[in-house]
Amino acid sequence: MMNADIHTRLDPFLREMRLPTMRAIYREDADTARRESSTYEEYLFGLVESERQTRHDNRIQRLLKQSRLPLEKTLETFDRGRLPQKVNMQVGTLVDGAFLERRENILAFGNPGSGKTHLLCGIAHELIKAGRSVYFTSCQLLVQELLAAKVALVLPQKLKRLAQYDAVLIDDIGYVQQNREEMEVLFTLLAYRYERGSVMITSNLPFSKWETIFKDPMTTAAAIDRLVHHSVILELNLPSYRLEQSKKQTTKREK
Ligand code: ADP
Ligand code: MG
Repeated sequence: MMNADIHTRLDPFLREMRLPTMRAIYREDADTARRESSTYEEYLFGLVESERQTRHDNRIQRLLKQSRLPLEKTLETFDRGRLPQKVNMQVGTLVDGAFLERRENILAFGNPGSGKTHLLCGIAHELIKAGRSVYFTSCQLLVQELLAAKVALVLPQKLKRLAQYDAVLIDDIGYVQQNREEMEVLFTLLAYRYERGSVMITSNLPFSKWETIFKDPMTTAAAIDRLVHHSVILELNLPSYRLEQSKKQTTKREK
């Protein structure tokens, strides 16, 4: 068979078998292989490796897009030296993602500006790089979405869809005061997720103040109980990063 014949027959096969990268590069790679006297196996290996790599890259891109994570809040841009040593060590363990298998939760507490959101987003970015799926949302937005689903009588479907993520990152729980109905759907989600998949939560409120979120003591205790049962707690008792940065700026200017 002439090369040209092979190309006209091979191209549709590669398309049909969904191997777009191989289809794009196999001719040029064949020229290179001939020039460099590579073996057939080496040539095949190169093709398969490229296909596999683009597939992997595309998957990570897709996971990142679905996650709705803020792109800039990675661990690369996060100064871990600021963290208490214990938290820093915990982070080192968490990024391997083993906690997802154990359906453990991560709960980050600390005052505003201490870096809770950035830190959990940074961990989430690492998880995605390792091929895990994460869904990032502010608590406020999540509650609105859950309520809308409830009104449309599709709350079970919405919960199921969220269950497909290895982790749901709920940012700023308790930051905005919720009414009873809003609290109820939030509780439903936490109860549904319990032992089904991990939840990552940031909060300015210590547990002792969670009654302002869940209204009555029973629901509050039930929510905390489920979250804490299998969990890693990150205490960020740190001064505000922003405040510290702006102070540094001021001292620089004064000098
Ligand atoms: P919190 O969620 O605790 O209120 P954020 O994570 O939103 O705090 O942090 C506030 C700001 O300070 C953000 O812009 C964040 O990127 C930055 N920041 C906080 N901690 C750090 C850190 N250790 N290294 C780099 N930037 C940080
Ligand atoms: Mg925050």
